[in-house]
This record gives sequence, C-alpha cells and structure tokens, in this order.
Amino acid sequence: MPASSVTIDRKDPRFDTLKTGHNLRFPANDAEAASRILICSNTAETAEALQRIVSSGIRPTVRSGGHCYEDFVSNNPNGAIIDLSLHNTVDAGPTGSPFRIAPGASLGEVYQVLYKRAGVTIPAGTCATVGAGGHISGGGYGLLSRLHGLTVDWITGIDILTVDSKGKVIERRVDKLHDPDLFRACRGAGGGNFGIITNFLFDKLPTAPREVAEATLTFPWATMTEEKFIKLLALFGDYWEGRAKDPDTWGLSVVMVMGPNNNPNGRIGMHVQFCNPDGTASNLSVLQEFFQRFAEFDSTQSGPSAPGSTTSTQRTTPAGSPNDPYQIVRRPWLEATLAGGGSGGGIRAKYKSAYMKKTFTSAESSAIYKYLTSPQIDSHGSVLAIDGYGGATNISDRAHDTAMPQRSSIMKLQWQCYWRDPEQDAGRLKFMDDFFTAVYTGSHVSSDHQGTPYGERYEGCYMNYPDADMLRYSYWPQLYYGAGDLYPLLQRVKKQYDPNNIFHSSMSVRA
Ligand SMILES: Cc1cc2nc3c(=O)[nH]c(=O)nc-3n(C[C@H](O)[C@H](O)[C@H](O)COP(=O)(O)OP(=O)(O)OC[C@H]3O[C@@H](n4cnc5c(N)ncnc54)[C@H](O)[C@@H]3O)c2cc1C
Repeated sequence: MPASSVTIDRKDPRFDTLKTGHNLRFPANDAEAASRILICSNTAETAEALQRIVSSGIRPTVRSGGHCYEDFVSNNPNGAIIDLSLHNTVDAGPTGSPFRIAPGASLGEVYQVLYKRAGVTIPAGTCATVGAGGHISGGGYGLLSRLHGLTVDWITGIDILTVDSKGKVIERRVDKLHDPDLFRACRGAGGGNFGIITNFLFDKLPTAPREVAEATLTFPWATMTEEKFIKLLALFGDYWEGRAKDPDTWGLSVVMVMGPNNNPNGRIGMHVQFCNPDGTASNLSVLQEFFQRFAEFDSTQSGPSAPGSTTSTQRTTPAGSPNDPYQIVRRPWLEATLAGGGSGGGIRAKYKSAYMKKTFTSAESSAIYKYLTSPQIDSHGSVLAIDGYGGATNISDRAHDTAMPQRSSIMKLQWQCYWRDPEQDAGRLKFMDDFFTAVYTGSHVSSDHQGTPYGERYEGCYMNYPDADMLRYSYWPQLYYGAGDLYPLLQRVKKQYDPNNIFHSSMSVRA
C-alpha cells in the first residue's frame, strides 16, 4: 500500500487546533502560520511527505511532541509542518536486544514501554508529554541524569531523512562508523537542523530503579531576608560543587523552584528524589546529609510533590528514621516518574537557561533576590528552577562524541514565565530579559560577555531551552555549543547534509 500521510489544510476544522504547539505565542499571527500540517505515522509516510513538500518548493518544519520553546516549528508562513506525533513506536526486546524509540513517542510512553518490557529506562525529562524527537536530539536530561548521564550518551544509531543538493530525500542510518559527524550532531545539537529523525537506536540502556525516596522542603518567603537567601543559594550550590565527583550522591536529584515573594503562597521549594546506585532507596544517608545542610533555615517538609504533578500517596511508604525532622517517602520508581505529568500547554510562555560550573556568588544571588521580590514580577506565572547537575553528565569523553559540550557544570538554571493575554507579551518578555541579564552583569562576568552566562564560571545555555534573545550576541552559537570544535563541526555537517538549508529556524546552525 502506498505511504500516505494525512494532510490538514487551513479549511480543515482540525487546523486551528493543530497549527500550534505547546507554547501559544506561536504562530505569532495568521500570516506566520503554516499552510498545512502533514500527519505521518511511520518512516515511509514521513519520507514521502518530505519529498512531496520539498519538491513543491515549500518549507517543512518538523514536530514530534510540540513542546518547542521558541518559534522554530509553528512560525512557518505558507509552509508545512511535518507532524510525527503518531510515529510513536517504542521497541524493547525482552531479552535486551536493541531498543528503538520513534520520535513521536512521548516520554511517558517511552518510560512505560521500556520499563514494562525490559526493566530499563532512558535518563530523560520529567514531563510525560514531551516528545522524544525534539527532546532527545536536543540533549534531554532529567532526574536520573546525575546517575546515568544524558540520553544522547546512550544512543548507538539514528535513522534520519536528509535532503541532498538536488532536492532528493535520502534515508540514512547513521552511527559511529557511518556518517559519524552527522551522528554526533544529532546527539544534542537540537532538532530541526539537519533532517528528520525517524528512530533513535540503543544497544543497551540503564536498568530502571526499583524505587525512589522523595521529599519536598519549602522555605517561606515571609522569613527570607536577602542575607538568608544568599546563604541558602550558596549552600545549595556548594553541595553540587563539592559532590560532583562522589558517585554515592549521583542518585540524588533536586530541583529548587523559586516563585516570586508577592504570591500569597509564595515559597522556595526543593523537590528531592533519591535512589542509591543499586536502584533502591534502602540507605538514605546521602539524602539526610543533604537536608541537614539546611537545618538552620525556617523550613517545612512534605512528601513527594513536583510543580504541576498529580501526587499519589497511595503506595508510598514512610522512610528514614522516626526521629528524622524530614518527611521522606519511598515509592515505586515508575509511579514517581509518571507522576511528573505535564504542564498541559495552551499558555503563552518564555524560557531562559544557564549552566553553572561553580556555586552562586553573592552578586548573582542578590540579583535573583531583587527580581523575585520586585513589585513588577508577575505573582503567579514566574519561576526560576535550579537543578542540581553534574555526576554522570560530566563524563568528559562524552563532550567529544556527542553534541553536548557542557560537561563541567554542577547546576542548570531555567527561567520560566507563563501568561494568557497576548497584550502582556511585551511586558513579560522584557521583565524576563532584564532579570536574566542582571544576574549575569557585573564583575563576576568578563567584560566581553556581560549579560550572558559565558566565561570561566559558566557553560552557556541549553539548546532544548532555546532563547531567541541570545541572538543579539554575536557569540550566541558559542553560548549553546561552546567555544571548541563543536560549532565548526556542526557547520560542516549542515553544509554537507543539508546543502540547501531546508531545515532552518531562527536559531538553527548557520552553514
Ligand atoms: C512542560 C515541559 C517540560 C519539559 N521538561 C524537560 C525536562 O525535564 N528536561 C529537558 O531536558 N527538557 C525539558 N523540556 C524541554 C524539551 O526537552 C524541549 O522543548 C524539546 O525540544 C521538546 O521536544 P518535542 O518533540 O516535544 O518538541 P517539538 O516542538 O516537536 O520539537 C522541538 C524541536 O525539535 C525539532 N524536532 C522535533 N522532532 C524532530 C525530529 N523527529 N527530527 C528532527 N527534528 C525534530 C523541531 O523541529 C524543533 O526544532 C520541557 C519542555 C516543556 C514544555
């Protein structure tokens, strides 16, 4: 039977729903929207759809889970969105034969199939609705990344469709022996650059933990002075800096989420998940020692809860000693992982990111304090999330065979802002930009790189959290890809495998 994707054009009642992804800021307006969406369910359909679109001289953009932060997919005037969300098979041989993840699979589907069929997992993100296609090709990370590295570190092959100089679609299987530079580029440089990935292949994957221990520690704004705030951030950062090379701590994953102080329920929260390297939560000394660091602060504790998660406590078991001041619960790893849920989308959003190699300076923390306590900050939709990082993500060899050069960082920061009214776009975007710029302005940043996390304390920004504001800096590629040989390699790959620059966006690799 000939391959046939489903085409949804502007007249189709499904068009308005499907023309946008997770972030309602895009398409920016009707003129920026694509003219059609092609829904593909397998590689043959995708190859045929891509050939048809390219032969018609139309620009394709590619969508898997639709969670892109910037305009790369949905702003495509008169173009075609090739939607792979139904190309979502996850294969996991019960005897450990190679694993295959198609790009449309959501992380929730991936976790379930890999776990139920083979007891393994990928060290990927917390949001179950994120798509494998963009997430993995952009270097996705998550709660198991300190323990097991990045998902791209485990990939052994990729199926990809490229378009040659004559406009012909070529199906390739790339690995470390076949088109090795393209293979490397697809492991972290970000989707939408070189072609359409139709499968990620893995010879082996890490065993999924049996259980995890979870807790949430919160610090009320009411008693948080600037002095205490600076100390809190320094203690948090010191931990990751000091334990970067201590494998016993690599099963500890903490995200510190800071909302504004003008929200009546405003809190600074640490959401903690832990397992020992053997995949159990039987020895909690690492977790207890982590909590002890913050004993001097006015805090409250509760069981598992992550922002946006639906928490089930039915299968939780109290853990730790009855004398512990902290409430820790143990629950099955799969249950905890699937509770990560998703933020649902359907909202306007802006994000920014930074990698940090060292703990916070007082200047950085003061700037963060100033903006989180500013009367201008939106009381509900603004958050700064700081992930403890390091551990297995920092195996330096992986900087040379993947496209993720950030292998010395101990924290990863994400600014998030959400709102509904398009009238608020300009104000929200400016506030976020000012906030971010202020944190990286001062004597802690070199004079040539003011306003950006670049230089000896930092490792730039994360391509899966792209921020078009960074385009104002001539060195934006180095922010995302480092100052070494990676970006020149990506430019060569772009020239060779996408000679007509078919796959491009505002932040794609420039040949
Ligand atoms: C609610 C939420 C939670 C998140 N949580 C995490 C997290 O825990 N960890 C983390 O690392 N990141 C996280 N992210 C960021 C996420 O990893 C990126 O947004 C990712 O790029 C989304 O992939 P996608 O397939 O869903 O998005 P899409 O919008 O479909 O794609 C994103 C980019 O990849 C390209 N692309 C998609 N599919 C393909 C393909 N098959 N071949 C080539 N290019 C392709 C697109 O063209 C686009 O440029 C989160 C994002 C959101 C919105």
